[in-house]
Amino acid sequence: MDRESQITALQDADFDLLVIGGGATGAGIALDAVSRGLKVALVEKGDFASGTSSRSTKLIHGGVRYLERAFWDLDRAQYGLVKEALHERSILLKIAPHLARHVPLLTPLYRRVEVPYYLAGLKMYDWLANDEQTPPSRYINAEDALKHCPMLREKGLRGGVVYYDGQFDDARMNISILLRAMDLGARAVNYVEVASFTKTAGKITGAQLKDALTDKHFSVQARAVINATGPLADSVRHMDDPKLKPMLKASSGSHIVLDRRFSPAEMGLLIPKTEDDRVLFLLPWMGHTLVGTTDNPAPVQNNPLASAEDIRYILRQLAKYFSIAVSEKDVLAKWCGLRPLVQPGAAVSTAKISREHTIEALPSGLITIAGGKWTTYRRMALEAVDEAVALHKLPVKRASQTETLAVAGGGDYKPDQPQRLEKRFQLPLTVCKHLSLSYGDRAERVCELALKTDKRVLVPGAPYLEAEVAYAALHESARSTVDVLARRMRLAFVNKEGADYARTRVQELLGDALGWDQAQRDADSRRYDAYFG
Ligand SMILES: Cc1cc2nc3c(=O)[nH]c(=O)nc-3n(C[C@H](O)[C@H](O)[C@H](O)COP(=O)(O)OP(=O)(O)OC[C@H]3O[C@@H](n4cnc5c(N)ncnc54)[C@H](O)[C@@H]3O)c2cc1C
Repeated sequence: MDRESQITALQDADFDLLVIGGGATGAGIALDAVSRGLKVALVEKGDFASGTSSRSTKLIHGGVRYLERAFWDLDRAQYGLVKEALHERSILLKIAPHLARHVPLLTPLYRRVEVPYYLAGLKMYDWLANDEQTPPSRYINAEDALKHCPMLREKGLRGGVVYYDGQFDDARMNISILLRAMDLGARAVNYVEVASFTKTAGKITGAQLKDALTDKHFSVQARAVINATGPLADSVRHMDDPKLKPMLKASSGSHIVLDRRFSPAEMGLLIPKTEDDRVLFLLPWMGHTLVGTTDNPAPVQNNPLASAEDIRYILRQLAKYFSIAVSEKDVLAKWCGLRPLVQPGAAVSTAKISREHTIEALPSGLITIAGGKWTTYRRMALEAVDEAVALHKLPVKRASQTETLAVAGGGDYKPDQPQRLEKRFQLPLTVCKHLSLSYGDRAERVCELALKTDKRVLVPGAPYLEAEVAYAALHESARSTVDVLARRMRLAFVNKEGADYARTRVQELLGDALGWDQAQRDADSRRYDAYFG
């Protein structure tokens, strides 16, 4: 169904549930609710995943540092959270086999006493995961550590420990969850903002919406409303009641991307101690090296940018562990995201606070869910829908199906798909791998489109096809050049120069697919420039 029809459908029906926010949490809620047989609408004021959910470190993890903290604080609840996240990790690897995979992570150790400490901790991590699919952690000596990671500082290296976590493509996971929800009947529209609530006798019965692309206003009716707006959750709570105490604080996290030669090909690096006593990840991602992250108090804003100081901080940490120089000239791309951190004791009414996320129900019936992490989006969604069902007596037809329901592209995906596509469509294997890992079992549809565009690529030497632009517009709700280059294809996240090279052609193709006039093309150019700051 195209965007205009989705918008008409929003106005014509009474929904059981309106979800505000199309990031990981909102997408997860929409899929959970529609899988229970509820009538669901979701609106997102920007593009899907344009908030924190495209800007993460892209790890599916229980959190080894949380486990360490749990151990020292003798905190059973914290153990429980790590265990739960590890359980979710095993589910995500199954429901999104094309987008998520295991990644080995090496922690280099420079003091002999650290070896038994880290190894024991990671063995406990393995044990908590209780997951036969994940290889166990192990010790490797200094020689092997250097074989895996020749750029490590050799002097004083005592060896390392290797453990496994999950890694994924966050923005594509986000759109794939939503596409599955839409397959099941949910209505989800991007560039539509909730501007205010409609109420009867103090209870929310729907919302006034604004279409950011046309400036038109319209309304939607719903029995229950869930606020899943991440770092912006307080702004939506304040639409309901301006006197509420803020629930969240934000902290910013920046990443940089370097050439692939800076990371071992199939292994990541966990730098165990930064100058501010945190950890730093260096991960192979999309044929490049992703490094992050920082952690600084930050104001809530729509499009945070990585600062020059953030970049310098990351490079300083690398310099301590690397024998080769890495400078600002090596930075191919960067991004910054905001962590929505729940303030203890801030939520009111029926608040259920774990230290990771909070669910709050206000007297108006508005339910807010905030905090948490990508890894636990499915679990958070389940709890939020449970709350909405109980509070608003929603007519569920069955239990949530999301534990086994594959996201779009995941259902029939098989690891030999790239080779099959290569044979059938006579496309280079690198292209078929990229398409398979992005679209899963839907990659064939992109290949069919590619046959009509002479299999043209967007950037010489890179695997992105022109056909993906029309596909993104027609089947994945992309409405701007940034949507395509940053969140459907991820090129802007790995190589800004590559994105700049492709932008004119992408705008042309997108404009043709969506019937843009010159004013719309100009607005698109302004959006692109604003995104990169
Ligand atoms: C630097 C960093 C690294 C991270 N790394 C990891 C990691 O490796 N693994 C992990 O598990 N987690 C990680 N996380 C956490 C994870 O990314 C977040 O928990 C998750 O993305 C939050 O998703 P969300 O849907 O709650 O918020 P968001 O993704 O921000 O989505 C909220 C959406 O609501 C929309 N919205 C706001 N107001 C309105 C309105 N009025 N109307 C309509 N829509 C509205 C926004 O535009 C936005 O798209 C990381 C976070 C950060 C910041």
